[in-house]
Formats: sequence, C-alpha cells, structure tokens
Amino acid sequence: MSETDQCSRDVATSGLRMHYHPCLRKATITRNGKRYCYQHDPEAVAARQKKLHAKWQAEWDADEKKWRRGQAAFKALALLEKILTGADVGLPVLPLAWERKAKRIVKEANT
Ligand SMILES: [Zn+2]
Repeated sequence: MSETDQCSRDVATSGLRMHYHPCLRKATITRNGKRYCYQHDPEAVAARQKKLHAKWQAEWDADEKKWRRGQAAFKALALLEKILTGADVGLPVLPLAWERKAKRIVKEANT
C-alpha cells in the first residue's frame, strides 16, 4: 500500500507507554486534501460524536425528569403527611381542592 493509499490520521498504540503511529488502514475518502479511512473520516467522526451526544442528552433529560418526579413525590408525600396528621395545610376541607393541588403537583412533575 502506497503512502497516498494510507489513512493520514495518527493513532495511539495500546500498552504501558503511549505512542502514536499512522493509521494502517487503507484511505477511502479525501477531506480537505487529506486521505482518511472509514473510521477516521472527519465527517464520520463528527456524525458519531453527534449521535453519542444526542444519546447522552436523552439520558440526562430522562434523569432530570426522574429527579423532578422524585421532587414532586416528596412534595406530595409531605402534603399527605400534613393532611393525615390533621395539620392546617391551607386547604378547605373539600376533596375537590385536594384534587386540584394533586393535579398541580403532577403537572409540575411532568413539565
Ligand atoms: Zn484511519
């Protein structure tokens, strides 16, 4: 394989000491005048990173939603504890008011 057929990216060797050497794969694409293999094609690298970041963002969003739901559950539990102990929770003793408050907590947890 001639040098022009070889990927232009340097890669790290594995082992105790870090060394870099040119990627040994055959270049299959040219970007900005440089040749790259399928793995080191800058556009493919960017696409993989974008996909990975989207996955992480989805995981963070799911974790945040879970956390908000947990916070809402704590609030609901605290309110229920007050109601069960007969504390004045600032609500008229009407089931409809309790329902509204519970709906607001659920809505807050799901936004
Ligand atoms: Zn390569």
